[in-house]
Amino acid sequence: MIVLKFGGTSLGSAERMQQVVELVAAAPDRERVIVLSAMSGVTNALIEGAEKALARDLGAALERIDWIHRKHAQAIDALFAGSPVKDGLERELEARLDELKILYKGINYLGELTRRSLDAVSGVGELLSSRIVAALASARGHRAVWLDARQFLVTDADFGRANPLWDELTPATRSAILPLTGAGTTVITQGFIGSTTSGASTTLGRGGSDYSAAIIGVALDAREIQIWTDVDGMMTADPRIIAGARVLPEVSFQEASELAYFGAKVLHPSTIKPAVEKNIPVRILNTMRPDQPGTLIKDQVKATETIRAVAAKKGITVIFISSPRMLMSHGFLAGVFAVFDKYRTPIDLIATSEISVSLTIDQTENLQQLTGELADYGDVRVVSDAAIVSVVGRQFREQSGIAGRVFNALSDINIIMISGGASDINLSFVVGSEDADRAMKQLHTEFFR
Ligand code: ASP
Ligand code: MG
Repeated sequence: MIVLKFGGTSLGSAERMQQVVELVAAAPDRERVIVLSAMSGVTNALIEGAEKALARDLGAALERIDWIHRKHAQAIDALFAGSPVKDGLERELEARLDELKILYKGINYLGELTRRSLDAVSGVGELLSSRIVAALASARGHRAVWLDARQFLVTDADFGRANPLWDELTPATRSAILPLTGAGTTVITQGFIGSTTSGASTTLGRGGSDYSAAIIGVALDAREIQIWTDVDGMMTADPRIIAGARVLPEVSFQEASELAYFGAKVLHPSTIKPAVEKNIPVRILNTMRPDQPGTLIKDQVKATETIRAVAAKKGITVIFISSPRMLMSHGFLAGVFAVFDKYRTPIDLIATSEISVSLTIDQTENLQQLTGELADYGDVRVVSDAAIVSVVGRQFREQSGIAGRVFNALSDINIIMISGGASDINLSFVVGSEDADRAMKQLHTEFFR
């Protein structure tokens, strides 16, 4: 059993959809489940429409429906011209969008948009895209059926970020899917959406299709889960900045998690955690370059390189607090952290000395209040427009010379703060934003030349 998930850009147009059907047909396993996102941009448009309706701008909401209609009708036109199934698909598209219109009108009329109604709206894109792909697969002569994921993907009622209810969904998923795949029929279903035990539509959170693929893969005890996207995989560095960046053939879940912070927008590792815990490999592949091997994410990997990747995150703010009161006192850090907690501001890196503490944050909405209250603890200094640069590798605590090589490579760059040792696989430091790209290039040259 294999689960293949295709993201929005992989479904962005008629040609892409055709390519998806070809890739599915070429999958090695006879038993296949296909998990699909909405066509690119559609989920955003659905949510915007609901917000417009809430803001009493029904006209703008209906424009979103028109845009969604055009996008899908064009794909249907291009794929099914002259085919007997075309009319049926068009009628179905219209029926779903009529329902959506009623939802928008309700939101507009009541002036109320609950998380529950937003879920009913935002999951429509997956229902539309999956219908077209399923019809296309059948039209191309493949044995395929469309299943509504809400029949089996049971979640709690935490609308907008629902959680899987494993005890309910595992038997439901197996009995909905296995008889079909066992008979050689490919199942085509939606990512992102589920339903509560009482039948209300839910969503798993933005980008949730990866999560769906992992959940379904675990429920079916799949051999592998493939996430088909628009990049070649996880890389040694951001290829837009480092020309020589290379794809990492294998990445551990831990490494993927460290790299995700840097917006390596491949996937959010937490979404595939259920699969990793069950030892089901997750492979990232590029729909545009299907011959590339991609990246395999596994629980453990047998990498031997010391440094596996370098990454940077810009737009970071550093806060320095220094106070003689910190000397030999306890509860000082607890007090400082409580201020960040009060303003719901996550702290990323921390470094301390006898009388001072430095921290980085990337959410600065409450910076003024934060620094105001931190002043009770000592002198506060803020450096904005900094960047965190990180090297991710292996066994940093057991090897000598790594920090030496890292900082040697950066001998001409001003380092504002250093944080290491929190994890065995990550060494992070802060530089000015303007130095971040150069720091990454020099590190990449040092370790990947
Ligand atoms: N279509 C949903 C979103 O845009 C889910 C996904 O694409 O993973 O968030
Ligand atoms: Mg995604």
